[in-house]
Amino acid sequence: MSALSELSLQIQSCQKCDLHKSRTKAVPGDGIENTTILFVGEAPGWHEDQQGKPFVGPAGHFLEELLGSIGLNRQQVFIANVLKCRPPGNRDPLPIEIQACWPWLEQQIQILQPKMIVTLGRYSMARFFPDGTISKLHGTARRQDGVSYFAMYHPAAALHQQKLRETLKEDMLKIPKLLLEIEKPVEVKIEKQPEQLSLF
Ligand code: URA
Repeated sequence: MSALSELSLQIQSCQKCDLHKSRTKAVPGDGIENTTILFVGEAPGWHEDQQGKPFVGPAGHFLEELLGSIGLNRQQVFIANVLKCRPPGNRDPLPIEIQACWPWLEQQIQILQPKMIVTLGRYSMARFFPDGTISKLHGTARRQDGVSYFAMYHPAAALHQQKLRETLKEDMLKIPKLLLEIEKPVEVKIEKQPEQLSLF
């Protein structure tokens, strides 16, 4: 069994916070192990809690549409959440739940070693971007230790606000260029030595 599958099993039986009492299924994450991009959402909703898979409800359908716009599908990336269990009534995650659940995501990142982490929504963004609001940071990337972090609005936000739908689409289209920049080898600039020049 792969390290990621073993981790998923551990997550499925996690009891580190009270959310385990109300969950139907924990939602560890979904996708391929040798992914370049990791998408990180907020927390499972009703559909995800029923199926044990991330982003399978209406927000997930829009995320799939966004992935399709850059020629990807969910089997070519990895999708996870900050919280692995559904907060009752889809309320916002509590700080104590985020604190308890965070080590799971850290371990997933350790195993996956993604080149790019795309944060979906402010709870995910807050953990990877030290400061700033999502209205300012969405569509922007920052590099750290060889990983590119890219902030996006949560796809569910677009279900209520048509304007954000267009913003999400535009932001998603920036990802291919960022990926190319990551994969581009570092340019080595060789300075001409004065002694060498005098040879000619
Ligand atoms: N919203 C999220 O943040 N994650 C899911 O998995 C589904 C909806």
